[in-house]
Amino acid sequence: MAHNPYELMISLSLDGMLEDEEEFELQTHLADCETCADMFDRMALVDTVLVNAGEVAPPVNFAVSVMLRIKAEETGRRWYPWLIGILVVASVLAAVSIAAPILFLSIGVERIIAQWPALASLVDNSLHLFETLLMRAWFITNAVTDWYSYLLSDPAALAVVVTALVFASIWIGFLEVSKANRLAMSGQAA
Ligand SMILES: [Zn+2]
Repeated sequence: MAHNPYELMISLSLDGMLEDEEEFELQTHLADCETCADMFDRMALVDTVLVNAGEVAPPVNFAVSVMLRIKAEETGRRWYPWLIGILVVASVLAAVSIAAPILFLSIGVERIIAQWPALASLVDNSLHLFETLLMRAWFITNAVTDWYSYLLSDPAALAVVVTALVFASIWIGFLEVSKANRLAMSGQAA
């Protein structure tokens, strides 16, 4: 086969193993020979696909890369407890910080001043709501703790559940706000 030496050179070139002179010779030939230019393109494409599909075709350093991944995984796990702790605290704080200010805003400072007799019961209601909120946050934190070991074994599940947790905390905040609104309205009516 006439193009045979160039086929080997193309392969070596794609692996970056050609001397400068050989590379120049190959490129000179590719500029003139459509068959070899086509072959170069196809082999380059196959090269790219194999590089990108590293998981499909086990590379030569498969064992080494697996060991490196396991090591990286173990290193990563060390900060998962910190991550989940921070996220749980953050979501609880988010629920409290969303609920508390809107709660007081929904009560309406000017209405409190206008209705001094209602103030005491509103404060009671606020404290009760805050207590309920904290208990729900505590319940969620407990539930997360139960899932702890499962989450640590699956980062994807961890991400999903933590996201759900944050949304749940925000949702509880809104529930409490709407409840506070109703209480403020009934306080106003009484
Ligand atoms: Zn050729």
